[in-house]
Amino acid sequence: MRDEILKLLENYDKDRIKIGTIGSHSALNILKGAKEEGFETVCICRSDDRFVYEMFEVADHFIEVDDFKRLLNEKIQRKLVEMNTILIPHGSYNAYIGSLYNLKVPIFGNRVLMEWEIVREKQKEWLMNSGLKIPKTYSTPEEIDGLVIVKYPGARGGKGYFIATSKEDFYRKSEEFVKKGIISREDVKKAYIQQYILGVPLYFSFFYSPAYERVELIAIDRRYESNVDGIGRIPAQDQIKIGISPTYTVVGNIPLIVRESLLPRIMKDGQRVYEYSKKIAEPGMIGPFCLESVIDENGEIYYFEISARIVAGSTVGIPASPYSYILFGENMYMGKRIAREIRLGIERDMLEKMIF
Ligand code: AMP
Ligand code: AMP
Repeated sequence: MRDEILKLLENYDKDRIKIGTIGSHSALNILKGAKEEGFETVCICRSDDRFVYEMFEVADHFIEVDDFKRLLNEKIQRKLVEMNTILIPHGSYNAYIGSLYNLKVPIFGNRVLMEWEIVREKQKEWLMNSGLKIPKTYSTPEEIDGLVIVKYPGARGGKGYFIATSKEDFYRKSEEFVKKGIISREDVKKAYIQQYILGVPLYFSFFYSPAYERVELIAIDRRYESNVDGIGRIPAQDQIKIGISPTYTVVGNIPLIVRESLLPRIMKDGQRVYEYSKKIAEPGMIGPFCLESVIDENGEIYYFEISARIVAGSTVGIPASPYSYILFGENMYMGKRIAREIRLGIERDMLEKMIF
């Protein structure tokens, strides 16, 4: 598969490389960064959303589609290749396209690792084998012996998650979610049940640079989620009366820095995840990845997810996060960092090390 992609890349006109992505998720970040690094950009967008990318002036070329799945159409792929496009995958590829094995266009990143990311058990294996601490998982609702968070398949971005304290609670809330149409009855059997870590969520956006052969910490954010972040705005007695449970639908993100004494562990963990990625699929992680954690009152860091691509929260780092500014001494954010790396790849004739 990779050979096929590298062959396409070989025929690219390296002076005319364009950077493209699907118009959603973190496209503003990616396309703005590409333009700042001097690339022409391609936005594959839904007709109704086009005005957003036009208004922000981040796209030089548009390919309009009625559904993001059309990216897999041969004609569109051929057009992207003819335009010398390198695609930057993000969360909407996972959500709307799924497997990228049928996408015959060069991608900045490692598509095998993106495949690992969409399977929870594989994520767990990756985090565990990298030596990171992860929340306990329960194979059946009957085993629940404390506070747990229940995640349903396909329930990305926190929609359809809920908290349970016992198996009775699990079945009652699942039934409620089925009745509300949030999940199907089939989904209940496929619930992913995980120990709930009481603490604060933090998302670390890393970047592995093949040009500099190093793992960089680019930005940190936290999510702003409905209604778990809204629930505290009404008094406890009213919360009890109306019987609401917290849900975790992501609405936005907030920038963060961490206590500096936590950094050595966080940065080592990023490095470990990179090292193990080489064992999963050579050449390992390329470019952006994100470790999603909860840190408890004892400073224990639990990782509950990994993303093998740019995350939407990294957009809080435009034009620079404190970390990317310290590292580069100039404005730097994930979209621009990606484009900078591609530029280095072209200049140093090592683009093939960055493409999968
Ligand atoms: P969307 O295009 O908004 O439907 O998002 C595509 C995928 O990315 C979904 O799985 C979303 O849950 C996820 N996503 C979008 N925006 C964010 C965000 N700001 N933070 C975290 N996840 C996001
Ligand atoms: P995810 O879609 O897996 O990134 O999770 C969405 C949100 O659920 C996170 O931002 C956290 O607030 C919360 N969350 C997920 N897993 C856990 C966990 N094991 N313990 C505590 N909170 C969690």
